[in-house]
Amino acid sequence: MFPTIQVTKTTQPRKRPVPGETLPFGVFFSDHMFSMDYVEGQGWMNPRIEPFGPIQLEPTAMVFHYGQAVFEGLKAYRCPDGSINLFRPLLNFKRLNRSDERLVIPALDPEFCVQATIELVRMDKDWIPTGEGESLYIRPFVFATDQFLGVRPSKTYRFMILLSPSGAYYPQGIDPVKIYVEDRYVRAVRGGTGYTKCAGNYAASLIAQDIAHKKGYVQVLWLDGVEQKYIEEVGSMNILFVIDGKLVTPELNGSILPGITRQSCIELAESLGIRVEERKVSIDEIIDAGKSGRLTEAFGSGTAAVISPVGQLKYGDTEIIINNNQIGPVSRLFYDTITGVQSGKLEDKLGWIVKV
Ligand SMILES: *Cc1c(COP(=O)(O)O)cnc(C)c1O
Repeated sequence: MFPTIQVTKTTQPRKRPVPGETLPFGVFFSDHMFSMDYVEGQGWMNPRIEPFGPIQLEPTAMVFHYGQAVFEGLKAYRCPDGSINLFRPLLNFKRLNRSDERLVIPALDPEFCVQATIELVRMDKDWIPTGEGESLYIRPFVFATDQFLGVRPSKTYRFMILLSPSGAYYPQGIDPVKIYVEDRYVRAVRGGTGYTKCAGNYAASLIAQDIAHKKGYVQVLWLDGVEQKYIEEVGSMNILFVIDGKLVTPELNGSILPGITRQSCIELAESLGIRVEERKVSIDEIIDAGKSGRLTEAFGSGTAAVISPVGQLKYGDTEIIINNNQIGPVSRLFYDTITGVQSGKLEDKLGWIVKV
């Protein structure tokens, strides 16, 4: 049995997006939020759903100083039959625990976290937008709350879940992106935190993204932190390639984030009889395969975009165009299948969906 979640309903409904207007990402938040506290010696306690609003923290809260903060991201989708889908939520909370472990944050019960998500989404279900491609973004996160400036793991934490109605990632249809291969900064190193969704990974990656944007590129392709030779991932997405008809993606080596969309692409490929290779992929191999025509597709995978085709890759003085800057058949099939299952328009053959 899960602990009971105390519910306090809001008396001041929040401002809602205007129907018909473009719905941005991460701007609107629903009426309620979930919170739970951890105290050393007592465990996780006081699960509650309350009106969305500011939280009080002392300026000494350890998260501000030493960065013990991890997060997750998933979505709820409204189906044509009116039911609500979550996409593989247990995987998010299992991953949250792997992030927690690396940052010495106490583990949560993943099954209870899914239950808390379901209860929160049920409560604010009329915040799920219903337009094509729209969804309710779910942001679970954990942070250290001890009032202390010494360097050690905090003894108190808060776990929260927020809901944010978000617009379609591709309101104008899928457009392949221009990617800049980053050869100065690195995102993660062996033994570091690359496999976790910790806030610090993002803080450390912003500079490269900033430089790439200024040069006219949409995202950064990260190389490994040791030799800067092997491909890791792109921005906040994993990267997959189609080479000689095979699906090729960097193996999970500890510095790559194990994406749930990546895993779903691999499972889908295997179910369709497409050969999958998870291995080291050097940037030289990709440039060569691009020049010789063996590289037919490249795409990022992640919860936000699901699939983001790469049309152009710039590495030093070399630039390659992939599939004539068009979305390819494998990317298209993966995008249509995964979004179709998520939104309840296609049968859930691989058992990915949890109903709210
Ligand atoms: C979240 C994330 C991904 C994608 O993971 P999904 O589970 O597919 O959303 C990839 N790379 C990084 C760095 C991430 O933070």
